[in-house]
Amino acid sequence: MSLQHESHHQVPSFHRGSFVDELESARTDLTHRLLTGESLAESPSTSASAPPLSPSHSAAPSTPPSGAVSPPELTTARDGDLVADSFAFAFDIDGVLIRGGRPIPEAIEAMKVLNGENEYGIKIPYIFLTNGGGKSEAERCGDLSRQLEINISPAQFICGHTPMSEMATKYGTVLVVGGEGEKCRQVAESYGFTDVVTPGDIIKNNSATTPFRKLTAEELANSKERDFSNVTIEAVFVFADSRDWAGDLQIILDIAMSKGGRVGTRSETFEEGPPIYFSHSDVLWSAAHDDPRLGMGALRGIVEYTFKEITKGKTLTTHAFGKPQIGTFEFATRLLKRWRKNAHNLDSPPETVYFVGDTPESDIRGTNDFNAKAENDWYSILVETGVYQQGTIPTYKPRSTVTTVLDAVNFGLRREMERRQQKKLSATNLVAADHGRTNRPKLTNVPRWLLDSTDCAVLSPSEERALELVAH
Ligand SMILES: [Mg+2]
Repeated sequence: MSLQHESHHQVPSFHRGSFVDELESARTDLTHRLLTGESLAESPSTSASAPPLSPSHSAAPSTPPSGAVSPPELTTARDGDLVADSFAFAFDIDGVLIRGGRPIPEAIEAMKVLNGENEYGIKIPYIFLTNGGGKSEAERCGDLSRQLEINISPAQFICGHTPMSEMATKYGTVLVVGGEGEKCRQVAESYGFTDVVTPGDIIKNNSATTPFRKLTAEELANSKERDFSNVTIEAVFVFADSRDWAGDLQIILDIAMSKGGRVGTRSETFEEGPPIYFSHSDVLWSAAHDDPRLGMGALRGIVEYTFKEITKGKTLTTHAFGKPQIGTFEFATRLLKRWRKNAHNLDSPPETVYFVGDTPESDIRGTNDFNAKAENDWYSILVETGVYQQGTIPTYKPRSTVTTVLDAVNFGLRREMERRQQKKLSATNLVAADHGRTNRPKLTNVPRWLLDSTDCAVLSPSEERALELVAH
């Protein structure tokens, strides 16, 4: 994020310019509000532990105690916790921390190490970056918190569909596909999409749309009755894995072949359909079964293939968010920056971010690609508890391969400490906890909404979003 945005003090109005212009405008607006602590959604606090909302975001600068190296690699924050300043972790979830709805045992131990239960007594900042979705970030965080026995904030969390939030102002009526029941409609509406159509709405209007899929009584009750003769679908968003591939495939193709997104019409050129976005493009993912299961990337491939077959050779270009798209890692960089600032009072970016994943095609490829252009070092670590199978050759080569996420955390921690020793930084530079220091940085400048809001993770502005809309 460039400084020019941080110093921007005027809230720009939205305008209907180019796609990039609109994202730029939305980003600047959100950045301004983030930095000024202006509430995006009123969120009355019930948390006794939440710090008071400071009227100013300009807290006293963090002054290194005498004797500390500058810049310190370890610093104090939050009432004297020792926090790793020079490095951080980012984790994929499925196949790394969770498998088949259950935590991988080593994951719970790994979180303890990150939260200070290590021989150095330091806490290490971390975030989560999953291609998965189908629930709100807050709900997914609640699940993960229970599974891993720690408190995880939505401000540490990016779902596959999180960046879609930035497109809410761009489109009017949208078709949202995937996930359980009405969940994805609700998530889309929470992102700010104002008119969300689901496949259920279309089937309710015309049950002949999907010959082999009948809505259940519950689906029939939840689906919305509307007259589609005057509805234009401006974009299709596949938020989460389809629960009915055949029906959803039919409906996505109907819209792709329509006259400008009008339900029930057929284009003569097959070139008038609205854009189609997938929240990620993973063909496989790690679930409870011994072998990886089919993911959204497979549906994406089928949509494109079938479109070509039906239209006798026309190409349908769809778009994917998520890893390995560079924009997703840029999004993660901004999330990590804000998390380090707000939770740990760290101002400078980490020198190294260890990314731990199980899928070479998304986790390792994305991390390596991003590392080639990032200012800091994004270090890819592949684990053997998910999609990647021990003994095989990964399509994209990680910097390091380990067995479990606990090994990955210990590896990163050990590597950092060795580097630290190499720099001849002695343990005396570790700053002991000292509650009495008046210049000790405290967590007093965090807007309360950021701590309490259930959807703050989706508020992050995006830079160069167009970069991640690269079809492949
Ligand atoms: Mg995974």
